[in-house]
Amino acid sequence: MSRATSATIHLGALRHNLRRLRELAPGAKLMAVVKADGYGHGLERVARALGEADAFGVACIADGQRLRAAGVTRRIVVLSGIDEPADIAEMHRLDLDSAIHHDAQIDWLAADRDTRPLRVWLKLDSGMHRLGFAPSQARDAYARLRALPNVDPAIGLMTHFANSDVFDDPQTAAQLRVFEDAFDGVPGERALSNSAAVLGWPAARGQWIRPGGLLYGISVVEGRSGADDGFRPAMTLSSKLVAINRVARGETVGYAGAWTCPEDMPVGVAQIGYGDGYPRSAAAGTPVLVGGVRAPIVGRVSMDLITIDLRGVPAARIGDRVVLWGEGLPVEEVAAHAGTIGYELTCGMTRRVRFLEDER
Ligand SMILES: *Cc1c(COP(=O)(O)O)cnc(C)c1O
Repeated sequence: MSRATSATIHLGALRHNLRRLRELAPGAKLMAVVKADGYGHGLERVARALGEADAFGVACIADGQRLRAAGVTRRIVVLSGIDEPADIAEMHRLDLDSAIHHDAQIDWLAADRDTRPLRVWLKLDSGMHRLGFAPSQARDAYARLRALPNVDPAIGLMTHFANSDVFDDPQTAAQLRVFEDAFDGVPGERALSNSAAVLGWPAARGQWIRPGGLLYGISVVEGRSGADDGFRPAMTLSSKLVAINRVARGETVGYAGAWTCPEDMPVGVAQIGYGDGYPRSAAAGTPVLVGGVRAPIVGRVSMDLITIDLRGVPAARIGDRVVLWGEGLPVEEVAAHAGTIGYELTCGMTRRVRFLEDER
């Protein structure tokens, strides 16, 4: 028998989440961010479910290639754009949009012999200091692009927020002002809002929103899960119990004896570990669902297995389904126990995890 560990992707949840985002940002076009293999949900599968998106945002040309090969005809925006001159031909071949965040990229375009117009998005660094032109250089960059015959004159304008998940953080309002000042009077469709900004910063909605996480039902707002705002988890990671052991009071469980039984108790063993992408950093107390009932893990996460305190689940039996996150257990909550965010967990599934899909 194959290993029980599987990630089920809920296509209905993906579609629901897209509709929910449209409800929250009426009138805005939606660029569905599907980088990192659709946040670990499977790029082609996600694109198929989100066929109603107005565009897709990817991290690299290779992802654009996969989407085109899968028959996606919508606009596809490569969020960091061309990395070298040869990428321009590839962008044309695949009909991709390129973000432009650096002078070097404009130089490559200026030197390119292909006269076909490339669609571009000018990226401003409004304060995150990762990719983008400084505010003082943004107009100049726009003018340079606009003067190039091989650049489509409908240049999009974008920036990215560093702290939009903290709704009372003044940084987002400050970044928004920097963006508005830098592009005051500059024509072009604006795209600013990641998922958290769609929730918390309605003023930042331009013509486009650019969410990733919420499409998968995942929130990065601390203490909240996507469900709190009407989203549904798009991945359920599950496995099963392969052993239930009675362990005596005072005995320790797992590597390094990191957990000591306070009494004689049942300890369940489930077939999932960091070799599957379940985080080793998940501390004792991280919840799982055993047959639908919450129970905390105890001891260290191993490569293939975890151990579970079954004192609260007396009916547990070998073979019971164990849910690590998803329906009934937000990945955001598990991530908080592991000192990370939900995105990192769904992105981290390894190749031995079986991917299934359903219409839920
Ligand atoms: C990842 C990313 C997004 C989406 O962010 P979420 O928090 O997942 O909504 C949007 N824009 C850019 C440039 C990104 O890198």
